[in-house]
Amino acid sequence: MTNQQLWQAVLGELELSLTKANFTTWFKNTAISFIEGEKVIVSVPNTFTKAWLENKYHQSILKTLQKIVGAQVKEVIYKVETIKPSLQKIEINPESTLSPGAKISPKEELTNKFGLNPKYTFANFVVGKNNELAHAAAQAVAKNPGKSTYNPLFIYGGVGLGKTHLLQAIGHAVLSTDPSKKILYTTSEKFTNDYVQAIRSRTMEKFKQIYRSPDLLLIDDVQFMAAKDGTQQEFFHTFNDLHQADKQIVMTSDRPPKAIPALEHRLISRFEWGMIADISQPDYETRIAILKAKCNEKGLVLDQKIIEFIATVIQNNIRELEGALNKIIAHAQFHHSLPTLETVKNILSHHTSSAKKIVTPKQLINSVAEFYDLKLEELLGQSREKRLAVPRQIIMYLMREELESSFPAIGQELGGRDHTTAMHAYEKISKEIENNERIKQEIEQIKQRLYHF
Ligand code: ADP
Ligand code: MG
Repeated sequence: MTNQQLWQAVLGELELSLTKANFTTWFKNTAISFIEGEKVIVSVPNTFTKAWLENKYHQSILKTLQKIVGAQVKEVIYKVETIKPSLQKIEINPESTLSPGAKISPKEELTNKFGLNPKYTFANFVVGKNNELAHAAAQAVAKNPGKSTYNPLFIYGGVGLGKTHLLQAIGHAVLSTDPSKKILYTTSEKFTNDYVQAIRSRTMEKFKQIYRSPDLLLIDDVQFMAAKDGTQQEFFHTFNDLHQADKQIVMTSDRPPKAIPALEHRLISRFEWGMIADISQPDYETRIAILKAKCNEKGLVLDQKIIEFIATVIQNNIRELEGALNKIIAHAQFHHSLPTLETVKNILSHHTSSAKKIVTPKQLINSVAEFYDLKLEELLGQSREKRLAVPRQIIMYLMREELESSFPAIGQELGGRDHTTAMHAYEKISKEIENNERIKQEIEQIKQRLYHF
């Protein structure tokens, strides 16, 4: 195994335990520089990252390395080495706008000139009950971009379930039928950055020309569309321009339009114009099918028993399934032999050891704050604004339901509130879940993030 493969395997594992933002921030442009006896020297882009990795992620990095290559690794040293900042620059010129942007994890950097990952095609996409609607809609759009009734197409679902894959598959399919079509794949974060930059450098004309010219606009993770500095207004106009000209727009998000906090009403209503399709968690059969497809892709031959084992212990998302396979591959390459079922059980032991990760009240509160994009002080403070009240009640509900905290303890955690407030909140949310699909969905998503990231 080369150093690069080893580091990919380590990153693959770390990625599962971190939020995407954290992962990208701290692990972008890192690499194994060389290995010397018991020491692994990791190159990092700057001293800030070095300090951060040393203080916060050292243990995870060391443990993960040991898990893959064994206990012979005893030390990890971080060294600042400037690597070419190839994908980091954000400027407004067609080249950079058509490139994948700054926030793509190292694995995904392999992209074509439109920023599309060559692996994210329809051919590589396994269809199951969890994604068949979204898949069918995506295909319809790809056949008839701009002209089907699915404009815009809005795909939503939890992390690692294949939204980006499907989104980019549309791009590939359109290009393969008509290579002259102009395609723009971007994320809402990049859109925001580009817009802010364009204002700053007075290059709005250029910005408009880039964003309003494609035949197909693929925009990933619209839940991050910033509510400030006129970004949403700009996107509103971009949307209208493209839509009026019968250009196709496809968006993804981790939740339906209505549930995106701070999204302007007029955008919500635009997003709901066409077709909304969700992707949910894959069932057992689909997980098996996906594992088999991925093994094929990676040239890995695994026993049916092993595949069934992986599909049983990893249920939440496909990125995790792939992560498991990558770990197995790294192990196999290092030991020059295919693993037995026993070895695989060991490699994936942390998936089996505890059904549920232990979560603290602080983590729970943080998750909810993050999900609704609220500040901790606001949530724990005294204001009774509605935008704070409901998330607060959801925290209290989850603390009771998931952590089995007592009502007085819950009140205490939430800035010293009375236990009756906590009881009331618990009852209210319990009822809401039965009648309000949106709240139910949101709570499901919060739980997913809480236990798996
Ligand atoms: P999301 O954007 O929803 O977070 P991704 O599209 O990045 O998820 O998918 C995560 C990984 O899982 C990718 O490597 C993708 O290729 C793979 N994947 C997801 N869904 C499928 C599927 N139905 N068939 C094959 N691979 C899939
Ligand atoms: Mg994605």
